[in-house]
Amino acid sequence: MSEPAAVEVIDVSKRFGTTHVLRSVSLPVAAGTIVSLLGPSGCGKTTLLRTIAGLERPEAGEVRVDGRVLTSSTTWVPPERRRIGMVFQDWALFPHLTVAANVGYGLPRRAPAADVDAVLAMVGLDGLGDRMPSTLSGGQQQRVALARALAPRPAVLLLDEPFSNLDTALRVQVRAEVHQLLTRLGVTAVFVTHDQAEAFVLGDEVAVMAGGAIVQQAAPAVLYERPATPWVAQFVGDANLIEGRGEGRRAATVCGPVPLLDEAHGVVTVLARPEELVVADVDAGTVELVEYYGHDTVYAVDLDAGPSVRARAGSAPRWRRGDRVTVAHSGRPAVAWPADAAGSADTLAGSASTASRGDTTVSGSPDAPTPVP
Ligand code: ATP
Repeated sequence: MSEPAAVEVIDVSKRFGTTHVLRSVSLPVAAGTIVSLLGPSGCGKTTLLRTIAGLERPEAGEVRVDGRVLTSSTTWVPPERRRIGMVFQDWALFPHLTVAANVGYGLPRRAPAADVDAVLAMVGLDGLGDRMPSTLSGGQQQRVALARALAPRPAVLLLDEPFSNLDTALRVQVRAEVHQLLTRLGVTAVFVTHDQAEAFVLGDEVAVMAGGAIVQQAAPAVLYERPATPWVAQFVGDANLIEGRGEGRRAATVCGPVPLLDEAHGVVTVLARPEELVVADVDAGTVELVEYYGHDTVYAVDLDAGPSVRARAGSAPRWRRGDRVTVAHSGRPAVAWPADAAGSADTLAGSASTASRGDTTVSGSPDAPTPVP
């Protein structure tokens, strides 16, 4: 790789026919960092990546790399002159070319074979240059695609769902290898995925997209703890959205008082992650479901004073379906949104809200007594 470069996408808009696919999207990527683009299917992730690569021409906005304008209303640098490497979803290897020929494809004709060997060694494929792609495992083919993108020493690497062709076990392994490699090389990379775990593990920052817009861009921990909207909260993890009454720096909820990060008054929607809730032996609700994950157990509890909430306990199952329990908040200060803002935020995410992962949205009377031992 050459020196990593900063990428700036500024107010980019793109339509396909009457479909507005990118709506004034801005995406800053600091040099040497990895930004994950996370969003539901069809939200515009690939189109944004292709716009950075110069494979799509937007109607408005700019793309700059290290301050140099590559795309604007008056400037157009063709893809092959952008020094941007791309790894596609299907890896797009040439089946009739050897591994070495695939990797050397984007290099000048007279590039020494040692250059190809060096890149193959870098991705852990030394000695496999003479093999045909079909004789390699899925994980090895993925690394050939990565080697081919890295060989011309790009300033920026773009990866579009690069692990989606791998089965679950291999995916986790290859993801860790690629993460290690990109970190070691200090590459500037934009990585598209619709998998939250993948986005969090690989990204220094995660940009969450919905309906052609970036809803929030932040470090994974910030996204998780301070999501900008209830929809983002649900999209980046398991979330209980509990109705409550703001009383300054705390809210009264069906799960008892919840400390708040920011002052709030009136009716609010409080984010309570399952790990912030504890189950106790009090006759206030019924265990509906027990999900044992090995490292922890999630209980879905139907509270008498409100609907169901999910609580995560770091131990083997202690309660069984049908047991009478209560659930109380016992975690760190939480985010709360004014109830009306929470509603409009869901609307903002548009069709994307249907893609949230079956997380729980709950409400209940904030006045209901919540006996907590
Ligand atoms: P996925 O996760 O499913 O790959 P995505 O978030 O990457 O989705 P895009 O591939 O960018 O989404 O597509 C965004 C929208 O633009 C979709 O509705 C898609 O059908 C549409 N679209 C993409 N490319 C074209 C094209 N060349 N012509 C017309 N419509 C297109």
